[in-house]
Amino acid sequence: MTAFLLFISHAVLLLMLPDHSVAGNKELLVTTIKQDPYTMAKGSVLEGYCMDLLGELAKKLGFSYRVQLVKDAAYGRVDDAGHWNGMIGEVIRGEADLAVAPLTLTAARERVVGMTKPFMQTGISILLRRDGGVEDAALFHFLSPFSTDTWVGVVIAYLLTAACFCLVCRLSPHEWSQPESEENHFTLLHSLWYAAGALSLQGAGPHPRAVSARVLSATWWLFALVLLSCYFSNLSSSQPPDAAHLRIKGFEDLANQEVIEYGTLSGSSTLAFFKNSNNPAYRRIYEHMERRKSLVSSMDEGVQRAKEGNFAFIGESVSLDLAVARYCELVRAHEVIGMRGYSIVTPLGSPMLKNLSIAVLQLSEAGELAYLRSKWWASSCMAGGGRGSGGKGHGLRGIFLLLGVGLGVALLIALLELTARARRRAQEQRKSCCTVLSQELSQRLRGGGADNHEESAEKSKA
Ligand code: GLU
Repeated sequence: MTAFLLFISHAVLLLMLPDHSVAGNKELLVTTIKQDPYTMAKGSVLEGYCMDLLGELAKKLGFSYRVQLVKDAAYGRVDDAGHWNGMIGEVIRGEADLAVAPLTLTAARERVVGMTKPFMQTGISILLRRDGGVEDAALFHFLSPFSTDTWVGVVIAYLLTAACFCLVCRLSPHEWSQPESEENHFTLLHSLWYAAGALSLQGAGPHPRAVSARVLSATWWLFALVLLSCYFSNLSSSQPPDAAHLRIKGFEDLANQEVIEYGTLSGSSTLAFFKNSNNPAYRRIYEHMERRKSLVSSMDEGVQRAKEGNFAFIGESVSLDLAVARYCELVRAHEVIGMRGYSIVTPLGSPMLKNLSIAVLQLSEAGELAYLRSKWWASSCMAGGGRGSGGKGHGLRGIFLLLGVGLGVALLIALLELTARARRRAQEQRKSCCTVLSQELSQRLRGGGADNHEESAEKSKA
């Protein structure tokens, strides 16, 4: 009798304990869909966020499983006759015991299958090419080939070179041989004009004659040539002219324009969101996509079309963020709408549902889901890299350096020319070379010329 009572109490206890073995010893058939980085084929094995998640759940709940790819490559949409396709359809028809994929939790699906607590949150956003009009202002497009730093560098280089021209032409006796009696033609104004002429490949004479000034001219011409060729090559590859005036920041902007084509995944919950929405802009987006038949059949196709340009792909922000992290030319609009979550799908009324939900929450609380997210969303595109505005013009550092060296060499040659002349004059006048040199220098730097000469002549008369 005691033994019987003990057996009954054990049986009752076992029934009350949480069901850790969700499916007994039966191997579960799990359906999934190929989508980066959730499920990807690596040779003959499947890997990715969802595969790692499935592994963790199996470990926690103690079940074995076999994964198969969904036959029609669809997520799950109901047709007019009430038949579901995709992974949802497979679970409903009993062709799979579980669906582990980025499957959005929606009211329509919740009615026909069991859906766990979400393992990831997302919303809907827009993916398009960086130069597809998200940020650039068309009015100042002509400045876009170089970054602000480079433009500041060019202006400083121009001013410094003009000042250097002016100085060299004053110092060099071959350029200004008689400071006592003749005007200096290479004034600061003329130097600015001369350097600007070279920068726009339009010669603006008179040209300098001294070796020092010619060295400076040649360096400046080389600088101008390299700068202009970089400018034009960046300008032509920067953005398509028809998209230049567009600035798509969100769904309103998208709905109010006809230049950029847009679409989403066919049969997806994103499409259903726009179809069922009462918002006039979202309705217009849905009608446009239906009319233009601009739906894509896979996430990869949507990303590829966005990369090719003039196409905005509407999709779930977590997936779009991955595309942005991988392809530097892509950018995601800031606006995110229709917040939703991804869930694991079981047959309706399945005893597994509760334990799977608890396990998902435990993984989330233990930081496992965050770890998996960072593991599979690692960025290969450095922030602000690629052809982003921050990186533009760095290839010009060499030519800036060369110009700096050219300025220094030209000044040195001008000083040597002046010293040689001072030595000659010192011998003729039997004075020390230093005295003659300092006289020459002060005469040339004072801004003398004919006026000075007249002044000194008047003083000597007086
Ligand atoms: N996660 C979506 C679904 O379950 C597919 C992708 C999308 O809607 O953009 O249908």
